[in-house]
Amino acid sequence: MALCKRCERWLVAEGDVYCGWCGSELVGYEVALTRDVLFRGRMPLHVQLTVRNLGQTPLEVHNIRADQPWVELPQFTAQTLQPDDPPLSLQVTVADYILPPTGIHEAIIQIIAGDGRAPQSVRLQVVPEPRLQIDMVDVEIVQQFPESDKTQ
Ligand SMILES: [Zn+2]
Repeated sequence: MALCKRCERWLVAEGDVYCGWCGSELVGYEVALTRDVLFRGRMPLHVQLTVRNLGQTPLEVHNIRADQPWVELPQFTAQTLQPDDPPLSLQVTVADYILPPTGIHEAIIQIIAGDGRAPQSVRLQVVPEPRLQIDMVDVEIVQQFPESDKTQ
């Protein structure tokens, strides 16, 4: 148990959602990816997923899952993040060999945490590598003859 950080008057019990004195929200978390767009063909195809407890009470992270088979997540067991803990960090790897060879691919990674609150999700995209195209329409090709050709 700890005092509410905002009003410093109320003892916050585990599982409390709001402070009983000042009404401020005591739970909350943030989910982020270090990058949400990956270019295919540029290795490595992985990013870090972080879950940060923004609340004043312990946060239980129950599960992390993805809706696409090409998103590889490490084996995850439920864990608890204390309010001042460093963020939970997991490596998300794109299994390139499963992806169809062309096109833009999108996956939703969902984090189930807290007590029955709506899961949070992040979106990860894998896109073709941008290609440089040179427009040749206005280019004039100039041929230069060696000096000796002019005298013939
Ligand atoms: Zn308070």
